[in-house]
Amino acid sequence: IDDYVIEDMQKFQDSFKGITRRYRLINRIGEGTFSTVYKAEDLHYDAYQNDWDVEAKENAKWSSPSSRRRMFAHRQKPHCVAIKKIYATSSPGRILNELELLHDLRDSTSVCPLITAFRHQDQVIAVLPYFQHRDFREYFRDFTISDMRHYFHSLFTALKAVHDHNILHRDIKPTNFLYSPTHARGVLVDFGLAERQGTDAHFCTCQLDPRDRQYAVQSSAYSNSLVDRGVTPATDTLVPAVPRSDARATRRANRAGTRGFRAPEVLLKCTAQTTAIDVWSAGVILLTLLTRRFPFFHSADDIDALIELATIFGKRRMREAALLHGQVFETSIPTVTEGGHGFQKLVLWCLGRPSGSERVAKGGAGLSKEELEAVTFMQECFELNPEKRITADQALAHPFIMKRGV
Ligand code: ADP
Ligand code: MG
Repeated sequence: IDDYVIEDMQKFQDSFKGITRRYRLINRIGEGTFSTVYKAEDLHYDAYQNDWDVEAKENAKWSSPSSRRRMFAHRQKPHCVAIKKIYATSSPGRILNELELLHDLRDSTSVCPLITAFRHQDQVIAVLPYFQHRDFREYFRDFTISDMRHYFHSLFTALKAVHDHNILHRDIKPTNFLYSPTHARGVLVDFGLAERQGTDAHFCTCQLDPRDRQYAVQSSAYSNSLVDRGVTPATDTLVPAVPRSDARATRRANRAGTRGFRAPEVLLKCTAQTTAIDVWSAGVILLTLLTRRFPFFHSADDIDALIELATIFGKRRMREAALLHGQVFETSIPTVTEGGHGFQKLVLWCLGRPSGSERVAKGGAGLSKEELEAVTFMQECFELNPEKRITADQALAHPFIMKRGV
Protein backbone atom coordinates (compact mmCIF):
# COMPACT_ATOMS: atom_id res chain seq x y z
CA ILE A 1 0.00 0.00 0.00
CA ASP A 2 1.32 3.41 -0.96
CA ASP A 3 2.43 5.74 1.80
CA TYR A 4 -0.09 8.40 0.89
CA VAL A 5 -2.92 5.86 1.14
CA ILE A 6 -1.74 4.87 4.61
CA GLU A 7 -1.58 8.52 5.53
CA ASP A 8 -5.10 9.08 4.16
CA MET A 9 -6.47 6.10 6.12
CA GLN A 10 -4.79 7.39 9.26
CA LYS A 11 -6.35 10.80 8.77
CA PHE A 12 -9.77 9.23 8.27
CA GLN A 13 -9.43 7.10 11.42
CA ASP A 14 -8.38 10.13 13.43
CA SER A 15 -11.18 12.31 12.13
CA PHE A 16 -14.02 9.82 12.52
CA LYS A 17 -14.47 9.37 16.21
CA GLY A 18 -14.82 5.78 17.45
CA ILE A 19 -14.48 4.11 14.08
CA THR A 20 -11.43 2.08 15.12
CA ARG A 21 -13.43 0.40 17.86
CA ARG A 22 -15.61 -1.26 15.26
CA TYR A 23 -13.53 -1.43 12.05
CA ARG A 24 -9.94 -2.05 11.08
CA LEU A 25 -9.10 -0.32 7.80
CA ILE A 26 -7.30 -2.58 5.33
CA ASN A 27 -6.93 -0.55 2.15
CA ARG A 28 -8.37 2.21 0.06
CA ILE A 29 -10.28 0.68 -2.84
CA GLY A 30 -12.04 3.54 -4.55
CA GLU A 31 -11.79 7.23 -4.92
CA GLY A 32 -14.38 9.20 -6.84
CA THR A 33 -15.94 12.61 -7.16
CA PHE A 34 -18.30 12.07 -4.29
CA SER A 35 -16.66 9.54 -2.04
CA THR A 36 -13.69 7.49 -0.97
CA VAL A 37 -14.20 3.78 -0.32
CA TYR A 38 -12.09 1.71 2.06
CA LYS A 39 -11.92 -2.00 2.60
CA ALA A 40 -12.11 -2.82 6.29
CA GLU A 41 -12.58 -5.65 8.70
CA ASP A 42 -15.70 -5.57 10.85
CA LEU A 43 -14.36 -6.44 14.29
CA HIS A 44 -17.85 -7.20 15.62
CA TYR A 45 -18.92 -9.43 12.78
CA ASP A 46 -21.47 -12.09 13.62
CA ALA A 47 -23.44 -13.56 10.73
CA TYR A 48 -26.33 -14.54 12.97
CA GLN A 49 -26.65 -11.04 14.30
CA ASN A 50 -26.59 -9.40 10.93
CA ASP A 51 -29.97 -8.95 9.39
CA TRP A 52 -28.46 -7.93 6.09
CA ASP A 53 -26.59 -11.17 5.77
CA VAL A 54 -29.49 -13.27 4.52
CA GLU A 55 -27.16 -15.35 2.44
CA ALA A 56 -24.93 -16.15 5.39
CA LYS A 57 -27.87 -17.12 7.53
CA GLU A 58 -29.43 -19.33 4.89
CA ASN A 59 -26.17 -21.08 4.25
CA ALA A 60 -25.40 -21.54 7.88
CA LYS A 61 -28.80 -23.12 8.32
CA TRP A 62 -28.79 -25.50 5.38
CA SER A 63 -25.30 -26.33 4.36
CA SER A 64 -22.34 -28.27 5.57
CA PRO A 65 -19.25 -26.31 6.60
CA SER A 66 -17.45 -27.23 3.39
CA SER A 67 -20.25 -26.19 1.04
CA ARG A 68 -20.67 -23.05 3.11
CA ARG A 69 -17.05 -22.25 2.51
CA ARG A 70 -17.52 -22.78 -1.19
CA MET A 71 -20.54 -20.55 -1.35
CA PHE A 72 -18.72 -17.82 0.47
CA ALA A 73 -15.63 -18.00 -1.68
CA HIS A 74 -16.72 -14.97 -3.69
CA ARG A 75 -17.20 -12.93 -0.54
CA GLN A 76 -13.62 -13.42 0.51
CA LYS A 77 -13.70 -12.93 4.27
CA PRO A 78 -17.35 -12.55 5.17
CA HIS A 79 -16.44 -10.03 7.81
CA CYS A 80 -14.93 -7.66 5.29
CA VAL A 81 -16.83 -4.49 4.63
CA ALA A 82 -16.60 -1.57 2.26
CA ILE A 83 -16.75 1.76 4.06
CA LYS A 84 -17.95 4.51 1.80
CA LYS A 85 -16.97 7.91 3.10
CA ILE A 86 -19.30 10.35 1.42
CA TYR A 87 -17.65 13.74 1.04
CA ALA A 88 -19.00 16.49 3.24
CA THR A 89 -19.38 18.57 0.09
CA SER A 90 -22.36 16.38 -0.87
CA SER A 91 -25.58 17.97 0.27
CA PRO A 92 -27.33 16.29 3.22
CA GLY A 93 -30.37 15.72 1.00
CA ARG A 94 -28.27 13.88 -1.49
CA ILE A 95 -26.65 11.66 1.13
CA LEU A 96 -30.04 10.89 2.62
CA ASN A 97 -31.35 10.03 -0.85
CA GLU A 98 -28.59 7.47 -1.41
CA LEU A 99 -29.09 5.83 1.97
CA GLU A 100 -32.87 5.80 1.62
CA LEU A 101 -32.83 4.18 -1.80
CA LEU A 102 -30.35 1.55 -0.59
CA HIS A 103 -32.65 0.88 2.32
CA ASP A 104 -35.61 0.43 -0.07
CA LEU A 105 -33.60 -2.10 -2.04
CA ARG A 106 -32.41 -4.06 0.96
CA ASP A 107 -34.18 -7.27 -0.09
CA SER A 108 -32.65 -7.38 -3.56
CA THR A 109 -29.75 -9.81 -3.53
CA SER A 110 -28.24 -8.27 -6.64
CA VAL A 111 -27.94 -4.86 -5.03
CA CYS A 112 -25.16 -4.37 -2.51
CA PRO A 113 -27.01 -3.99 0.78
CA LEU A 114 -26.45 -1.25 3.28
CA ILE A 115 -25.34 -2.71 6.61
CA THR A 116 -25.40 0.50 8.53
CA ALA A 117 -24.40 4.14 8.35
CA PHE A 118 -22.73 6.51 10.78
CA ARG A 119 -22.40 10.23 11.07
CA HIS A 120 -19.69 12.11 12.91
CA GLN A 121 -20.07 15.89 12.67
CA ASP A 122 -20.42 16.66 8.96
CA GLN A 123 -19.02 13.28 7.92
CA VAL A 124 -21.23 10.38 6.85
CA ILE A 125 -20.09 6.83 6.16
CA ALA A 126 -22.10 3.98 4.66
CA VAL A 127 -21.03 0.44 5.53
CA LEU A 128 -21.60 -2.28 2.93
CA PRO A 129 -20.51 -5.92 2.79
CA TYR A 130 -17.30 -6.20 0.79
CA PHE A 131 -17.84 -7.93 -2.54
CA GLN A 132 -15.01 -9.77 -4.17
CA HIS A 133 -14.86 -8.68 -7.79
CA ARG A 134 -12.41 -8.04 -10.59
CA ASP A 135 -11.55 -4.80 -12.29
CA PHE A 136 -13.43 -4.63 -15.62
CA ARG A 137 -10.29 -3.46 -17.42
CA GLU A 138 -8.58 -6.72 -16.52
CA TYR A 139 -11.11 -8.98 -18.22
CA PHE A 140 -13.17 -7.10 -20.82
CA ARG A 141 -10.84 -8.08 -23.67
CA ASP A 142 -11.14 -11.81 -22.96
CA PHE A 143 -14.87 -12.09 -22.49
CA THR A 144 -16.52 -14.78 -24.61
CA ILE A 145 -20.15 -14.49 -25.69
CA SER A 146 -21.00 -17.02 -23.00
CA ASP A 147 -19.32 -14.81 -20.37
CA MET A 148 -21.38 -11.90 -21.67
CA ARG A 149 -24.61 -13.85 -21.32
CA HIS A 150 -23.82 -14.43 -17.63
CA TYR A 151 -22.67 -10.87 -17.03
CA PHE A 152 -25.88 -9.42 -18.45
CA HIS A 153 -28.07 -11.94 -16.72
CA SER A 154 -26.58 -10.71 -13.47
CA LEU A 155 -26.71 -7.03 -14.41
CA PHE A 156 -30.30 -7.17 -15.68
CA THR A 157 -31.39 -9.09 -12.61
CA ALA A 158 -30.09 -6.16 -10.59
CA LEU A 159 -31.70 -3.63 -12.90
CA LYS A 160 -35.03 -5.40 -12.73
CA ALA A 161 -34.93 -5.24 -8.94
CA VAL A 162 -34.10 -1.53 -9.03
CA HIS A 163 -36.65 -0.71 -11.72
CA ASP A 164 -39.37 -2.73 -9.99
CA HIS A 165 -38.92 -0.24 -7.15
CA ASN A 166 -39.39 2.57 -9.67
CA ILE A 167 -35.84 3.69 -9.12
CA LEU A 168 -33.47 4.97 -11.82
CA HIS A 169 -29.87 4.14 -11.02
CA ARG A 170 -28.56 6.79 -13.46
CA ASP A 171 -24.95 5.71 -13.37
CA ILE A 172 -24.75 2.21 -14.79
CA LYS A 173 -21.15 1.52 -15.83
CA PRO A 174 -18.56 -1.16 -15.08
CA THR A 175 -17.16 0.48 -11.93
CA ASN A 176 -20.62 0.53 -10.38
CA PHE A 177 -21.35 -3.13 -11.08
CA LEU A 178 -18.99 -5.27 -9.06
CA TYR A 179 -18.68 -8.46 -11.02
CA SER A 180 -16.80 -11.64 -10.34
CA PRO A 181 -16.26 -13.56 -13.62
CA THR A 182 -15.36 -16.77 -11.77
CA HIS A 183 -18.64 -16.76 -9.87
CA ALA A 184 -20.63 -15.21 -12.74
CA ARG A 185 -22.20 -12.95 -10.21
CA GLY A 186 -22.24 -9.25 -9.59
CA VAL A 187 -23.82 -6.62 -7.40
CA LEU A 188 -24.88 -3.12 -8.19
CA VAL A 189 -23.38 -0.34 -6.09
CA ASP A 190 -23.37 3.44 -6.00
CA PHE A 191 -26.83 4.90 -5.68
CA GLY A 192 -25.34 8.37 -5.34
CA LEU A 193 -27.13 9.64 -8.44
CA ALA A 194 -30.15 7.37 -8.23
CA GLU A 195 -33.64 8.79 -8.01
CA ARG A 196 -37.22 7.71 -7.90
CA GLN A 197 -38.86 7.86 -11.30
CA GLY A 198 -40.95 10.99 -11.53
CA THR A 199 -38.83 13.07 -9.16
CA ASP A 200 -38.42 16.47 -10.73
CA ALA A 201 -40.12 15.20 -13.87
CA HIS A 202 -42.33 17.42 -15.92
CA PHE A 203 -43.97 17.34 -19.27
CA CYS A 204 -41.92 16.32 -22.28
CA THR A 205 -43.28 15.94 -25.79
CA CYS A 206 -42.12 12.30 -25.80
CA GLN A 207 -45.12 11.59 -23.59
CA LEU A 208 -47.55 12.71 -26.29
CA ASP A 209 -49.26 10.61 -28.88
CA PRO A 210 -47.10 10.72 -32.07
CA ARG A 211 -49.66 12.81 -33.97
CA ASP A 212 -50.13 15.31 -31.17
CA ARG A 213 -46.38 15.50 -30.82
CA GLN A 214 -45.92 16.46 -34.43
CA TYR A 215 -48.41 19.26 -33.96
CA ALA A 216 -46.81 20.44 -30.74
CA VAL A 217 -43.33 20.46 -32.23
CA GLN A 218 -44.45 22.17 -35.43
CA SER A 219 -46.23 24.88 -33.53
CA SER A 220 -42.81 25.24 -31.88
CA ALA A 221 -44.30 25.72 -28.47
CA TYR A 222 -41.99 23.05 -27.16
CA SER A 223 -39.28 23.04 -29.74
CA ASN A 224 -36.13 23.84 -27.90
CA SER A 225 -32.55 24.87 -28.38
CA LEU A 226 -31.23 23.94 -31.76
CA VAL A 227 -28.74 21.14 -31.48
CA ASP A 228 -26.34 21.88 -34.24
CA ARG A 229 -22.66 22.00 -34.80
CA GLY A 230 -21.35 22.38 -38.27
CA VAL A 231 -17.82 21.98 -39.44
CA THR A 232 -16.19 25.07 -40.86
CA PRO A 233 -14.12 23.42 -43.58
CA ALA A 234 -11.09 25.66 -43.14
CA THR A 235 -10.38 25.03 -39.49
CA ASP A 236 -12.23 21.81 -38.83
CA THR A 237 -13.43 23.15 -35.52
CA LEU A 238 -16.89 22.61 -34.23
CA VAL A 239 -18.95 25.74 -33.99
CA PRO A 240 -22.19 25.91 -32.11
CA ALA A 241 -25.01 27.26 -34.22
CA VAL A 242 -27.52 28.03 -31.54
CA PRO A 243 -29.24 31.32 -32.36
CA ARG A 244 -28.02 33.96 -29.95
CA SER A 245 -31.37 35.69 -29.67
CA ASP A 246 -33.27 32.56 -28.77
CA ALA A 247 -35.98 33.79 -26.46
CA ARG A 248 -37.12 30.32 -25.45
CA ALA A 249 -36.25 29.35 -21.96
CA THR A 250 -33.35 26.94 -21.78
CA ARG A 251 -34.57 23.60 -20.67
CA ARG A 252 -33.37 22.07 -17.46
CA ALA A 253 -33.25 18.33 -17.17
CA ASN A 254 -31.33 15.94 -14.98
CA ARG A 255 -28.26 14.96 -16.91
CA ALA A 256 -26.39 13.29 -14.07
CA GLY A 257 -24.42 10.25 -15.10
CA THR A 258 -21.08 9.40 -16.63
CA ARG A 259 -19.83 10.49 -20.02
CA GLY A 260 -20.17 7.87 -22.68
CA PHE A 261 -22.98 6.09 -20.84
CA ARG A 262 -25.73 8.70 -21.13
CA ALA A 263 -28.84 7.70 -23.02
CA PRO A 264 -29.89 9.87 -25.96
CA GLU A 265 -32.91 11.20 -24.04
CA VAL A 266 -30.57 12.39 -21.29
CA LEU A 267 -28.38 14.15 -23.87
CA LEU A 268 -31.51 15.59 -25.46
CA LYS A 269 -32.65 16.98 -22.11
CA CYS A 270 -35.82 14.95 -21.85
CA THR A 271 -37.69 16.15 -18.77
CA ALA A 272 -39.56 12.89 -18.22
CA GLN A 273 -36.70 10.37 -18.04
CA THR A 274 -37.47 6.80 -17.11
CA THR A 275 -35.69 3.66 -15.98
CA ALA A 276 -34.97 3.03 -19.69
CA ILE A 277 -31.86 5.23 -19.34
CA ASP A 278 -30.19 2.44 -17.34
CA VAL A 279 -30.89 -0.11 -20.07
CA TRP A 280 -29.12 2.12 -22.57
CA SER A 281 -26.06 2.30 -20.32
CA ALA A 282 -26.06 -1.49 -20.02
CA GLY A 283 -26.07 -1.56 -23.82
CA VAL A 284 -22.93 0.59 -23.81
CA ILE A 285 -21.20 -1.98 -21.58
CA LEU A 286 -22.15 -4.72 -24.06
CA LEU A 287 -20.82 -2.64 -26.93
CA THR A 288 -17.55 -2.29 -25.03
CA LEU A 289 -17.32 -6.04 -24.57
CA LEU A 290 -18.23 -6.87 -28.16
CA THR A 291 -15.81 -4.36 -29.67
CA ARG A 292 -13.15 -4.83 -26.97
CA ARG A 293 -12.91 -1.04 -26.64
CA PHE A 294 -13.17 0.65 -23.31
CA PRO A 295 -14.31 3.31 -23.04
CA PHE A 296 -16.22 3.18 -26.28
CA PHE A 297 -17.62 6.70 -26.36
CA HIS A 298 -15.34 9.53 -25.30
CA SER A 299 -17.09 12.87 -25.51
CA ALA A 300 -17.30 14.92 -22.35
CA ASP A 301 -19.69 17.36 -23.94
CA ASP A 302 -23.34 16.42 -24.58
CA ILE A 303 -23.38 17.85 -28.09
CA ASP A 304 -20.26 15.93 -29.05
CA ALA A 305 -21.79 12.83 -27.51
CA LEU A 306 -24.84 13.27 -29.77
CA ILE A 307 -22.51 13.55 -32.75
CA GLU A 308 -20.81 10.31 -31.71
CA LEU A 309 -24.20 8.63 -31.63
CA ALA A 310 -25.16 10.20 -34.96
CA THR A 311 -22.07 8.75 -36.57
CA ILE A 312 -23.43 5.29 -35.76
CA PHE A 313 -27.19 5.80 -35.94
CA GLY A 314 -27.22 8.28 -38.83
CA LYS A 315 -28.82 11.71 -39.10
CA ARG A 316 -32.27 10.47 -40.00
CA ARG A 317 -32.76 8.46 -36.81
CA MET A 318 -31.13 11.15 -34.67
CA ARG A 319 -33.54 13.75 -36.06
CA GLU A 320 -36.44 11.49 -35.11
CA ALA A 321 -34.99 10.88 -31.65
CA ALA A 322 -34.53 14.63 -31.09
CA LEU A 323 -38.03 15.50 -32.27
CA LEU A 324 -39.42 13.05 -29.79
CA HIS A 325 -38.25 15.41 -27.04
CA GLY A 326 -39.07 18.58 -28.93
CA GLN A 327 -35.52 19.18 -30.08
CA VAL A 328 -34.09 19.80 -33.51
CA PHE A 329 -31.00 17.91 -34.55
CA GLU A 330 -28.99 19.05 -37.52
CA THR A 331 -25.36 18.70 -38.42
CA SER A 332 -23.20 19.28 -41.46
CA ILE A 333 -20.27 17.17 -40.30
CA PRO A 334 -19.45 15.15 -43.43
CA THR A 335 -18.65 11.90 -41.62
CA VAL A 336 -22.17 11.78 -40.22
CA THR A 337 -24.23 10.16 -42.91
CA GLU A 338 -27.98 10.02 -43.37
CA GLY A 339 -28.20 6.30 -42.63
CA GLY A 340 -25.28 5.72 -40.30
CA HIS A 341 -23.63 2.34 -39.86
CA GLY A 342 -25.00 -0.95 -38.72
CA PHE A 343 -23.74 -2.48 -35.48
CA GLN A 344 -22.62 -5.68 -37.17
CA LYS A 345 -20.26 -3.72 -39.37
CA LEU A 346 -19.11 -1.65 -36.43
CA VAL A 347 -18.24 -4.68 -34.34
CA LEU A 348 -16.39 -6.31 -37.24
CA TRP A 349 -14.41 -3.11 -37.83
CA CYS A 350 -13.42 -2.80 -34.22
CA LEU A 351 -12.29 -6.41 -34.11
CA GLY A 352 -10.28 -5.85 -37.27
CA ARG A 353 -12.29 -8.42 -39.17
CA PRO A 354 -13.31 -7.68 -42.75
CA SER A 355 -16.87 -6.54 -43.35
CA GLY A 356 -19.16 -6.06 -46.36
CA SER A 357 -17.67 -6.22 -49.84
CA GLU A 358 -14.23 -6.53 -48.34
CA ARG A 359 -15.41 -9.67 -46.58
CA VAL A 360 -16.72 -11.20 -49.77
CA ALA A 361 -13.41 -10.44 -51.47
CA LYS A 362 -11.33 -11.89 -48.67
CA GLY A 363 -13.73 -14.67 -47.93
CA GLY A 364 -13.66 -13.71 -44.23
CA ALA A 365 -16.30 -14.85 -41.86
CA GLY A 366 -18.80 -12.32 -40.61
CA LEU A 367 -20.17 -12.51 -37.11
CA SER A 368 -20.82 -15.93 -35.66
CA LYS A 369 -24.38 -16.95 -34.82
CA GLU A 370 -23.63 -16.30 -31.15
CA GLU A 371 -22.18 -12.87 -31.84
CA LEU A 372 -25.18 -12.01 -33.95
CA GLU A 373 -27.46 -12.88 -31.08
CA ALA A 374 -25.48 -10.55 -28.80
CA VAL A 375 -25.63 -7.75 -31.37
CA THR A 376 -29.38 -8.20 -31.78
CA PHE A 377 -29.82 -7.94 -28.04
CA MET A 378 -27.60 -4.87 -27.90
CA GLN A 379 -29.68 -3.19 -30.59
CA GLU A 380 -32.73 -3.59 -28.41
CA CYS A 381 -30.90 -1.81 -25.59
CA PHE A 382 -29.95 0.88 -28.10
CA GLU A 383 -33.47 1.65 -29.21
CA LEU A 384 -33.34 5.46 -29.47
CA ASN A 385 -36.94 5.82 -28.35
CA PRO A 386 -36.98 5.01 -24.60
CA GLU A 387 -40.58 3.92 -24.86
CA LYS A 388 -39.64 1.18 -27.32
CA ARG A 389 -36.39 0.14 -25.64
CA ILE A 390 -36.29 -3.33 -24.11
CA THR A 391 -37.02 -3.33 -20.37
CA ALA A 392 -34.93 -5.17 -17.78
CA ASP A 393 -37.79 -7.61 -17.36
CA GLN A 394 -37.99 -8.34 -21.09
CA ALA A 395 -34.19 -8.55 -21.30
CA LEU A 396 -34.17 -11.43 -18.84
CA ALA A 397 -36.47 -13.37 -21.19
CA HIS A 398 -34.40 -12.56 -24.29
CA PRO A 399 -32.69 -15.55 -25.99
CA PHE A 400 -29.29 -13.89 -25.53
CA ILE A 401 -29.69 -14.14 -21.77
CA MET A 402 -31.89 -17.23 -21.62
CA LYS A 403 -29.40 -19.34 -23.52
CA ARG A 404 -26.56 -19.04 -21.07
CA GLY A 405 -25.28 -22.41 -19.92
CA VAL A 406 -25.45 -23.11 -16.23
P1 ADP B 1 -18.48 6.62 -5.92
O1 ADP B 1 -19.77 7.32 -5.70
O2 ADP B 1 -17.32 7.38 -5.37
O3 ADP B 1 -18.28 6.20 -7.33
P2 ADP B 1 -18.96 3.79 -5.35
O4 ADP B 1 -20.05 3.38 -4.44
O5 ADP B 1 -19.16 3.60 -6.81
O6 ADP B 1 -18.55 5.30 -5.02
O7 ADP B 1 -17.63 3.02 -4.93
C1 ADP B 1 -16.40 3.32 -5.56
C2 ADP B 1 -15.60 2.06 -5.78
O8 ADP B 1 -15.35 1.40 -4.53
C3 ADP B 1 -16.28 0.99 -6.63
O9 ADP B 1 -16.08 1.21 -8.01
C4 ADP B 1 -15.62 -0.28 -6.14
O10 ADP B 1 -14.36 -0.45 -6.75
C5 ADP B 1 -15.39 0.00 -4.66
N1 ADP B 1 -16.53 -0.54 -3.88
C6 ADP B 1 -17.68 0.11 -3.55
N2 ADP B 1 -18.49 -0.67 -2.82
C7 ADP B 1 -17.88 -1.86 -2.72
C8 ADP B 1 -18.22 -3.12 -2.09
N3 ADP B 1 -19.36 -3.29 -1.43
N4 ADP B 1 -17.34 -4.13 -2.17
C9 ADP B 1 -16.16 -3.97 -2.83
N5 ADP B 1 -15.79 -2.84 -3.41
C10 ADP B 1 -16.62 -1.78 -3.38
MG1 MG C 1 -19.17 4.78 -8.53
